[in-house]
Amino acid sequence: MSVEREIQDFNDLFQKEEYKELLERKKTFEAPCTQAEVEEAAAYSRTDAYKDKNFARSSLVVNPAKACQPLGAVMAALGFEKTLPFLHGSQGCTAYFRSHLSRHFKEPVPAVSSSMTEDGAVFGGMRNLIEGLENSMALYKPEMIAVSTTCMAEVIGDDLNAFIETARQEGVIAKDVPVPYANTPSFVGSHITGYDAMLKSILSYLYDRSEGDPNVPKADSPPLNVLLGFEPYTGNFAELRRVLGFFGSGYTILGDHSGNFDSPAAGEYGYYYGGTKLSDVPRAAKAQGTLSLQKYAVKKSLEYIESGWGQRVVSMPTPIGIAATDRLIREISRLTGLEVPKELANERGRIVDAMTDSHNYLHGKRVAMAGDPDLLLGLIGFCLEVGMEPVHIVCTNGDKEFQQEAEQLLASSPYGEEGTVHIGRDLWHMRSLLISDPVDLAIGSSHLKYAAKDADIPLVRLGFPVFDRHHMHRYPIIGYQGTLNVLCLIVNTVLQQLDDRAPEYGFDLVR
Ligand code: SF4
Repeated sequence: MSVEREIQDFNDLFQKEEYKELLERKKTFEAPCTQAEVEEAAAYSRTDAYKDKNFARSSLVVNPAKACQPLGAVMAALGFEKTLPFLHGSQGCTAYFRSHLSRHFKEPVPAVSSSMTEDGAVFGGMRNLIEGLENSMALYKPEMIAVSTTCMAEVIGDDLNAFIETARQEGVIAKDVPVPYANTPSFVGSHITGYDAMLKSILSYLYDRSEGDPNVPKADSPPLNVLLGFEPYTGNFAELRRVLGFFGSGYTILGDHSGNFDSPAAGEYGYYYGGTKLSDVPRAAKAQGTLSLQKYAVKKSLEYIESGWGQRVVSMPTPIGIAATDRLIREISRLTGLEVPKELANERGRIVDAMTDSHNYLHGKRVAMAGDPDLLLGLIGFCLEVGMEPVHIVCTNGDKEFQQEAEQLLASSPYGEEGTVHIGRDLWHMRSLLISDPVDLAIGSSHLKYAAKDADIPLVRLGFPVFDRHHMHRYPIIGYQGTLNVLCLIVNTVLQQLDDRAPEYGFDLVR
C-alpha cells in the first residue's frame, strides 16, 4: 500500500480551489467591503494627509516594537541556575511569553502561572499563588522561583510580599528556597523594564540573604562582573566569553540565559540548563567592577550594583561597530587592569578590512530601523561607520535620555544629518515614514516585515523577536566578530537586491 507523504507549505496548499473558496467566504465574513473600497482605503493610507492623522493618534497603538514587562522577567529568571519563572496572573499571558520566546529561540521555555481567573480577580489571587508555589516545588523541583506579575494581579493590587510570606508560614516553600519577586505591570514599560526589575530583585535578594552568612566567601571573587541585559542573541554570550578568554581574566556573567535558550537535543528534556550559579551572586558583589553591554535595559540593576554593592559600574549600548567594540575592549582592560591581547588587535584589523571591502555598496544607503534602545544605538554607530545614513529611527520603548543620546550620535557624523528619532511610536508610524520619505532598506525585528513589504524595501532582521528566520540568534552581533556578521547580513541584502533588480547586462558574477 502506498502512503501519500506530501507535506506542503501553506502558501502552496492555499492555492487549491477548496481553500481559495474558504478564503473568499472568510473575507466576506470578516470585512464585507468591496475590493474597490479596500483599494481606496489602502491608497489613502499612503498619503501625507493620512500620515498626519497617523502621527496625531494618541490613544491607539498599532504593531508596537515592544513586548510585555513579564516576558522580560521570564528571560531574567532563566539567566539563573535551576530557576523557575513563575507568573502570578493569567494563564494566557504566560502562554504568550512562552510561545514568543520559543518562536524566537526555537527552544521550549519553562514558565508556570498561578492561573488566576474571575474569582481570583474578585477575591484576590493569594490562594492561586500559594497553590501554584506548592505545585511548582513538587513538580519542577527548582532551586529558586522568580515571581513576576501580569496585568490582572497588578490591577487588583495583589501583595506579593505578603502572599509569599504566607506561603512560607504555611510550609509550602522551604526556608532555603529563594523566592525573589518583581512587580511587572504591562500597562507601563516594556520587556526591558520587566527584565530590569526581575534582575534587580534576584541580585538584591540573593545578596541580602547571604549577608551575615559565614559560609559565603568574602574575598574569593572574580574581578569582573558582566551583564548582557535583555539579550536575544545566545551567540553574544559565546562571543563575550571568547573575548574575555583572550584577556585571561576571571569574570561572572550576571544573568546568563544562553544555556536555557540553546539546550541540546540529547533525547531527554530537562527544565534547567546553565545559568548563573546562585552562590556566585554574593561573591560578585565583591568584584572590582561591573561592565554592562546594555545601558537602557538594566538601568535599575546597575543603580543597585553601584549603590548597594559600592561598585564601579560601566555601561554601554550594544557594542556593534569598530568604535563601540574598541570601547568595550578598553573598558575590560581598565576594569581588570590587564593589557589588550594582541589577538584582538589583529581581529580588529581584519574587520576594518572587511568593512572597507563592502563600503562602496553601503555608502550613502538610506536606512530605517526599529528596536530596543541599546540595539538602535549600536546600529546607528555601525551605519555611520560604513557611510550608511540612518533616516527613520523608531523606538517604541525609548525615553528622552535615549532620544538625546541617539541624536548626539547622529550629529557626530555627516551621514547622520537626516536622521530623526521617534520615541513612543510604533511600526504603523514607521510605515507612514517609509512611504512618505523612502529609504533603501529597513533593519529590525520580524514585526517590521509588513511595513517593509508595503514600502517595497528589504528587511534585515536584527533584534527581538525574529520569528521568520532560523538560527539568527546563534550568531553574535557584538564585538569585532559580531560586527562582521552584521556587515555580512546588510551588505548581502543590498547585493541580493541589486541582483533582483539588475537588467540582464548588469547581472554580474562578481561584486
Ligand atoms: S499586556 Fe498584560 S494582560 Fe496583556 S499579555 Fe501582557 S501581561 Fe498579559
